[in-house]
Amino acid sequence: MTQPTEPIEFAVAADEITERFPAGSTLSPAVRDALEKICPTSIENQSLAEHGRDWWPLAMHWALQGKTPRKPGAVCTPNTTEQIAALVAVCNTHDLPLTVAGGRSGVCGSAVPLYGGVVLDVTAMQGIVSVDQVSGIVEVLPGTFGPDFENELQSKYALTVGHFPQSFDISTVGGWVACRGAGQYSTRYGKIEDMVVGLEVVLANGEVVRTGGAPASAIGPDLTSLFIGSEGTLGVITKVWLRAHPVAQFQARASYIFPSFVDGVNACRDSVRNGATPAVLRLYDEIESKRSHGLDGTQCTLLVLDEGDERLVKATLDIVRESAIGNRGKVGDIELVEKWLHHRNDTSGLQALTRKGYIVDTMEVSAPWSKLESIFNGVRTAFMTAPGARSASCHLSHSYLDGACLYFTFAGDKTETVEEHYIAMWNAGQREAIKLGASVSHHHGIGINRARFMQESLGSAMQLLQGLKNTLDPKDLLNPGKIGLTSQRNNSKPVWP
Ligand SMILES: Cc1cc2nc3c(=O)[nH]c(=O)nc-3n(C[C@H](O)[C@H](O)[C@H](O)COP(=O)(O)OP(=O)(O)OC[C@H]3O[C@@H](n4cnc5c(N)ncnc54)[C@H](O)[C@@H]3O)c2cc1C
Repeated sequence: MTQPTEPIEFAVAADEITERFPAGSTLSPAVRDALEKICPTSIENQSLAEHGRDWWPLAMHWALQGKTPRKPGAVCTPNTTEQIAALVAVCNTHDLPLTVAGGRSGVCGSAVPLYGGVVLDVTAMQGIVSVDQVSGIVEVLPGTFGPDFENELQSKYALTVGHFPQSFDISTVGGWVACRGAGQYSTRYGKIEDMVVGLEVVLANGEVVRTGGAPASAIGPDLTSLFIGSEGTLGVITKVWLRAHPVAQFQARASYIFPSFVDGVNACRDSVRNGATPAVLRLYDEIESKRSHGLDGTQCTLLVLDEGDERLVKATLDIVRESAIGNRGKVGDIELVEKWLHHRNDTSGLQALTRKGYIVDTMEVSAPWSKLESIFNGVRTAFMTAPGARSASCHLSHSYLDGACLYFTFAGDKTETVEEHYIAMWNAGQREAIKLGASVSHHHGIGINRARFMQESLGSAMQLLQGLKNTLDPKDLLNPGKIGLTSQRNNSKPVWP
């Protein structure tokens, strides 16, 4: 069975790992006994420390100081929906927080058990349950990792869901849904919310509900979407039904060079508005184009890849070409696409720089086309105003009819005060993005790190979200203290920052 991948090593042995957030009490023997009766339950030091963190880059610095964000009291590994409902019942009885963990590849601390309690690790629930080949619908368990899922789907059924996030190898289907993720081929296949047909969810009161099931229903508000992006705060996703496409038989690639990022943005916009939605349409600013594609530091690269029916793919690539040339683009080296395909999921640079003490992180936002230029310029500048800032760059990674995702990468100098500089860089970049009209996140989600921006981003709609939480989870059991929701567990005050 595939297991989660550790983000970085701890600097100390398992029994010496301490906690960054206030340490909690251990579970009583009676509670442990109740949990153990339901499913395998661990209180082993290494397991508690690993389940106390995810791939949040700041937590990597803490690991190198011998700290995990917050250890749970126990890690439970159920393998049925019934066991999950029983675990939720125990948490209800003993007022214990319950945080779901999948691959723990989240980058905002969303799987961190901020107030201790139980971590419910769904990675024992793996595999495809059934496939409706006529409709192209696949039923899959939430702890299934990307490669296991797509390998089985493609080899046995000649189908693909088309969701390939950069974290494909280290993340699970349940995590994709819970974080409202986006794959690198999303301009063709859509974001995860476009792929979900329905869900099975265990609610905080232990009830099991099934949502969705048919395309484009008009049976009241879409209840499936309540749980997509809820980051484990509204329910535990125990089964997912996803739309699948026939595996593509034809693929084509192209690349273009632009004298400015804005020209490239206009080319992407024109392509999509003219009906071309190639799987990959990635535009890199002059900094990233120099770093990754060997350009001279003044030009920008657009990488294009599409797959599917040959006639459609060729027409799509034609429209992109016309849009690129019409916006001062020149044909670039097609080998750049091949190079990107080979290196696109490599994260070794992040760990290497973190071990040297540098701050490195990414911030992805989405916005309408009309605001992208000011966000591109404003956010890159804002990052560089923060103390210790070293670099800030950007690429456009996912395009829509009305706008796109801008993905910023920023780095800070080595410093004794990593946390302070890290917070300052995030405040500078994220606040500028919100001010200029961007959403807080396009696909990484909110977790702990971005919780402080939710109120200013959602405004009065934040009350609606809080109301939903209060109704569905009145005791605040499920992943408390996340996505900007208040938690009575800390007198409604945020724990961080
Ligand atoms: C190097 C790197 C690259 C990345 N690239 C991308 C990318 O291209 N696109 C993208 O979308 N994301 C990306 N991410 C972010 C992350 O991988 C995604 O958010 C992913 O979907 C998380 O899945 P997971 O299984 O690891 O979930 P976890 O990290 O374990 O959990 C994330 C959140 O979902 C909740 N959750 C998990 N499973 C369930 C469940 N069954 N029921 C209810 N709640 C649940 C958890 O409680 C937590 O709040 C990247 C991360 C890294 C480290």
